[in-house]
Amino acid sequence: MPAKRVASKKKTTRAAKKTAALQVPRITYATLAITPDDDKKYDDAVERVRQELGKHFPNFVNGESRPSSGGENAHASPVDTRKVVSYFPKGTREDAQHAIRVAHEAFGKWSAMDYRDRVKLMRRAADRLIERRYAISAWMAFEVGKNRAESLAEVNEAAELIRYYCERMEFHKGYVLPLESPGKGQKTVSVLRPYGVWAVIAPWNFPMALATGMSAGALVAGNAVVFKPSSESPVAGYEIYRAFADAGLPNGVFNLMVGPGATVGAELQENPGVNGLIFTGSKEVGMQVYHNFAKGYPKPVIAEMGGKNPAIVTASADLDEAAEGVMRAAFGFDGQKCSANSRVYVDRAVKDKFLELLVEYTKNRVKVGDPTRKETFMGPVINQAAVETYLRAADEARRGGGKFLFGGNAIKTGEMEHGYFVEPAIVELDKKHRLFQEELFLPFLVIDAVDSFDEALALSNDSEYGLCAGIYSRDQKEIDVFFDNIQAGVTYSNRRAGSTTGAWPGVNSFGGWKGSGSTGKSALGPYYVQQFMREQSRWIVG
Ligand code: NAD
Repeated sequence: MPAKRVASKKKTTRAAKKTAALQVPRITYATLAITPDDDKKYDDAVERVRQELGKHFPNFVNGESRPSSGGENAHASPVDTRKVVSYFPKGTREDAQHAIRVAHEAFGKWSAMDYRDRVKLMRRAADRLIERRYAISAWMAFEVGKNRAESLAEVNEAAELIRYYCERMEFHKGYVLPLESPGKGQKTVSVLRPYGVWAVIAPWNFPMALATGMSAGALVAGNAVVFKPSSESPVAGYEIYRAFADAGLPNGVFNLMVGPGATVGAELQENPGVNGLIFTGSKEVGMQVYHNFAKGYPKPVIAEMGGKNPAIVTASADLDEAAEGVMRAAFGFDGQKCSANSRVYVDRAVKDKFLELLVEYTKNRVKVGDPTRKETFMGPVINQAAVETYLRAADEARRGGGKFLFGGNAIKTGEMEHGYFVEPAIVELDKKHRLFQEELFLPFLVIDAVDSFDEALALSNDSEYGLCAGIYSRDQKEIDVFFDNIQAGVTYSNRRAGSTTGAWPGVNSFGGWKGSGSTGKSALGPYYVQQFMREQSRWIVG
């Protein structure tokens, strides 16, 4: 073949590969497109995982298992609290110190590796996750109560996050950028370089995607990581560790350190050997970490926190679209998404019709039960504290004159007797009520009527949070004003697949403003990876 044609064929293959890597998978949070083949593989995996429940796991540092002197924590399933899902070590401060030292030792070699080689290894980890997606999803059902479609979408998202951040690294050619030459025989270059060791502290609600994404951002940039999953989702953390280890990341580059916030979490914040910290979780803990981390001198801290996400339904809205979109975003994974739609401001003129449709969608679609069952939309909430928060909020709403249009109770019948199950709640309530402000992180939706679009917009912005927001309107001017003035990092208009939920790597960036996020650069998006690097400006003579 002539050289020219070979070169052009190579180019085409490279382009095709790139496109393939960024193709959106069939199952996402928007599509939830499960086939009978997925169902069969998932059901088989559930039976296999059921046999493995109650296993004892260690932590992993430097590629070796590390039991802890701090004893073990038994994690019971929220689906049926009589079943122990796993036993994991209660990592101590000493365990975390050891992991930080090891990560430092591994950092030199990892950061010196050509970024193209790093990316190759990282992509293998994405492939491992995809190969194991049914079993990982089954574990997630037992561990955090997530239903099959949402779990499968989440494992896909985890893999896509790795791939997207790899693609960003390649797109920017390892973040080495020649600048304007200062003169003959001289050149200047901007190089982004990794910081060293990053702590990754993750929440339980997206135990695969968020933890994988944060870790992948740090790793692909050339940092070593000490990763602390939530104690509610350590098996998901272990599966992430296993994927990176099996992909061939050098020992010590990625270390798994399960343990309490008070020991492992505290050490990761306070140890001077940690060069950067990324946290996703509640605003309460996030702000504490944000203030505590950089004491002696500035160090990067990325904190992604909670949300109290509004949807506006205007007089011109397609009400069916709005009702389905709100139902999906309010009750997907039991409202336990930082992006969940938890408050709605609906124009008084269309309120009754909208509420009627919303209740109808909820009644028909939101089946509560065992999350491993195909038909289940809502599994259990995460723990007893969540059930208590739900019941307290219901009581407070009733005392505040709230009218329950749906739900408001815990469920203790049939297969739900031994789990943490609650009904999806829809409450009409005075918009000045406290429950329009507090993030409950539950399937608990508060709604009130407004007299204008301007009032709805002002109320939407009246929040310490600024994560997601949605609007339903057929008036382009309203939509433009909404996008230009809403104080939120993730925004949607007229979305049936979810009023405020469903972000996807490379498609829809995800990050918060105000009390919802610290850096203004979103996960899943084009400006994420460079946050894990610092610039070195080079002036080279000769
Ligand atoms: P959380 O704040 O209770 O815990 C998050 C992590 O911090 C866990 O690993 C926990 O063990 C650890 N931790 C707890 N105390 C600590 C301490 N003192 N020092 C260091 N680490 C400590 O949050 P959660 O219940 O796991 O997750 C739910 C919260 O996360 C909600 O508020 C939700 O909105 C938020 N969230 C935000 C995003 C986002 O992208 N903005 C995504 C998912 C969840």
